[in-house]
Amino acid sequence: MSLTDPHYLILQTDQVSLGPDFFWPRALVSPPDLAPGIPLGMEEGRPVIALWGQDWWPGPWTRLREVFPQLPPHRWKLIARALPLLNWRRTHRFCGVCGQPMQDTEEPLSLWCPSCGHTEWVRITPAVIVLITRGDEVLLGHNRNHAPGVFSLLAGYIEPGESAEEAVHREVWEEARIRLRHLRFLESQPWPFPDNLMLAFRAEWAEGRAQPDGQEILELGWFSRDHLPTLPGRGSLARRLLETWQRGELGPS
Ligand SMILES: [Zn+2]
Repeated sequence: MSLTDPHYLILQTDQVSLGPDFFWPRALVSPPDLAPGIPLGMEEGRPVIALWGQDWWPGPWTRLREVFPQLPPHRWKLIARALPLLNWRRTHRFCGVCGQPMQDTEEPLSLWCPSCGHTEWVRITPAVIVLITRGDEVLLGHNRNHAPGVFSLLAGYIEPGESAEEAVHREVWEEARIRLRHLRFLESQPWPFPDNLMLAFRAEWAEGRAQPDGQEILELGWFSRDHLPTLPGRGSLARRLLETWQRGELGPS
């Protein structure tokens, strides 16, 4: 093994294959031609290459949501960059304009069509999430995609033509039939399932009786700090915001 040999980070949809030292050494990996690597810079003096391992890598595989809370932030950052890039490349192998195969460019964020000259840039999908309070209570919803009994903050995708703030107001009206006031931005976090950028807000309830839409949100409720239901897993932005609020450290709204 030479010092310039890459080590591999092997991923698929929502899973990572954890190697002997987090990465897999070159000696143990023979990626097929159809799994082109994405360079992720240097780690511990050696180049890191991300690979999409579905259909050829035997594993073992671990669900990312399970390892996320244990990973140091710099490892998680690598995964959060690699997954959207890998996903995007495998779903953009052909030109959306003329249908011919796309080619690599000099950097991993774009692909180029030699047939018609179209350049395609990697996409991230912005979404909003909002912590809504009414006095000492927080509004939480049970989404149809949540595990039974799990409640979380309301969230949704930003639509074309919307500001992030408009998206919060629309989503909350659609999902809960309430109006907000004092909406303000808190922080953001990449969430690579597959390519989201979560923009977190907080707001106060202004008017309306919270009613679930029955489509996406099946149950809604106002919960006090001392009686929170089962929350989403550690590592999620929703969980972190709720714990910060529960400790009284989110500040006044
Ligand atoms: Zn083309």
